[in-house]
Amino acid sequence: MKLFDSHCHLDFDAFASDRKDVVARALNVGVRAIFVPGVSRRQSLSNSSSDNQWPDDCAGVALLQGFGLHPYFIHQHQDDDLQWLAQQLESNPTAAVGEIGLDACCEDYTTQTRLFTAQVDLACEFQRPVVIHHRKTQPELLRVLKQARSKLPENPGVIHAFSGSKEQANTWIELGFMLGVGGTITYERANKTRTALAQAPLSNILLETDSPDMPISGYQGQRNEPAHCIDVVRTLAELREESVEELAAATWNNACRLFGWHG
Ligand SMILES: [Zn+2]
Repeated sequence: MKLFDSHCHLDFDAFASDRKDVVARALNVGVRAIFVPGVSRRQSLSNSSSDNQWPDDCAGVALLQGFGLHPYFIHQHQDDDLQWLAQQLESNPTAAVGEIGLDACCEDYTTQTRLFTAQVDLACEFQRPVVIHHRKTQPELLRVLKQARSKLPENPGVIHAFSGSKEQANTWIELGFMLGVGGTITYERANKTRTALAQAPLSNILLETDSPDMPISGYQGQRNEPAHCIDVVRTLAELREESVEELAAATWNNACRLFGWHG
């Protein structure tokens, strides 16, 4: 059984001291591929440097990469970061655009919107999927993405850490998007999201942990890590009354299709 963690910030400092062990524990439960989003120019630079940040040996776990300007770091981003992003996409033919998005709890919503729209344009130009961050912003995100839909690639992207109703899920699915499923579903109080994901088409679901954030139920306050992918898929299997193996295989294939990767 192979698991694909489609959203894990393995490059963050939270993993600086034991990244190799984290990857080994993930491998141990079946994780064979991890998508590491980019959040800013600075973070992405440290990501690709050879300063020993990365385990020498990720044997057995493929690392896929994205580049993006995340709303959390809105004050760091400069206008020429968009040119930098275009260069990264040019020189990394398989890289996705993300993590990008809109966050109602972050400042400077006008700049957020301008940067988000410009990054969606780059995704269209380079024909890459987008990895979308949202917080109380789904209608605005959908408005921009619907306008760009005819120019985005066939598999246009994923709404990372999807939460919401069945109707909201359907709107994303109609646009061709995947729903990123993480720790949220392990909380019983997340009724609406659990129902939506129990009924969503299998072809539109990705597993993710969002490590080091979004701890699963029972691990609140602790650092999350990609090995918890197994808990997410087990909870999803219960909710959907499908087998863990079937879900692992389907979500693996969905992630490969989205990222254009043939693992
Ligand atoms: Zn993220």
